[in-house]
Amino acid sequence: MRIPFNDLATPHASIVEEVVAEVRAVAANSRFIGGPAVEAFEQEFAAFCNTAHAVGVANGTDAIELTLRALGIGGGDEVLVPANTFIATASAVAAAGATPIFVDVDPESLLVTPETLEAGLTERTRAIVPVHLFGHMVPPAGVLEFAQRNNLVVVEDSAQAHGADAPNDGSGEKVRAGSYGVAGTFSFYPGKNLGAWGDGGAVVTDDADLASRIRSLANHGRTEGTDHYEHRYIGRNSRLDALQAMVLRRKLADLPEANVQRRRVASVYAEALAAHGIPLVSPLPGVDSAWHLLVVRVPGREAVRGLLNEAGIGTGVHYPVPCHRQLAYLTDRTPDLPVAERAATEILSLPFFPHMRDDEVAYVAENLAKAIATV
Ligand SMILES: *Cc1c(COP(=O)(O)O)cnc(C)c1O
Repeated sequence: MRIPFNDLATPHASIVEEVVAEVRAVAANSRFIGGPAVEAFEQEFAAFCNTAHAVGVANGTDAIELTLRALGIGGGDEVLVPANTFIATASAVAAAGATPIFVDVDPESLLVTPETLEAGLTERTRAIVPVHLFGHMVPPAGVLEFAQRNNLVVVEDSAQAHGADAPNDGSGEKVRAGSYGVAGTFSFYPGKNLGAWGDGGAVVTDDADLASRIRSLANHGRTEGTDHYEHRYIGRNSRLDALQAMVLRRKLADLPEANVQRRRVASVYAEALAAHGIPLVSPLPGVDSAWHLLVVRVPGREAVRGLLNEAGIGTGVHYPVPCHRQLAYLTDRTPDLPVAERAATEILSLPFFPHMRDDEVAYVAENLAKAIATV
């Protein structure tokens, strides 16, 4: 058996004809930038995220950067970021002119907590960018309480968590990823839970003024609703185009079912891994993860990877070097963040996609157990 790390082709097979028909329509009406496809997608994505507004942008990194800029965060400001995230969380903060301050995470969930955030706090801290890593959402209560107490804004990096839900402390009610901070940012990179056929991103928020400023910054600083050549801000070009919006609209319709399938496959994995005593990085109690990735922790990770590769099983590591240890971010004040550093040596992302079959999961779990016993 050969099991790829991911399979993006299969879910596209059933929609390709529909999408191509719409490509023809866009080619005919020539509304390539903005226009009805982008507007419709923005409305549908805002509704999906349970927020009032969504602004399409060029990618998930720009979504974070432009949100911070629109909030007036820049030079001299510090932003708290987990050390164990994709580098873009940090580079977006730096691109806004602010300084990313890396913090450690909880040893079980690998997510930020009020305690780990506290360690990075200074009088310059202005914002927190919690990352819903692997689709496992950082619950709102602790982060919001910490932010309020320290007068910080929260921008949720939801690039891996389209459609995740977490309990809103106390009440039985759930809160969707991206909807509890002042804004939530998303990436539509092809491999994400909602992936375009190219790059794309979005910011969701309930704040109409913030949405309008982000939209303007992403569109050459244009004043909305005025002449094409009136520029209110020093902006740039970071727009979502109509072809990507069209693909995203079609795929958004299938996303709730795909997330249900991801949760099903994750539960099959959880049972198989538990039978072999292999620890799975799991969401916190009550969280409905978007299960972007299926991550286990294994000693001798590189040797195990090699054996799985020989058995035809594709794997990944998200991420092998924590951000604060990357050359680009090393300073003489680089902190020790032992939880993130240790996790980086042990984490292993297994093959995972919504239509993965039970026998494929069993094959991976058995070969993983065999590999761990061998090394
Ligand atoms: C993918 C990703 C991003 C960046 O998104 P791009 O669309 O690639 O710019 C940011 N943060 C996290 C956690 C991601 O996984």
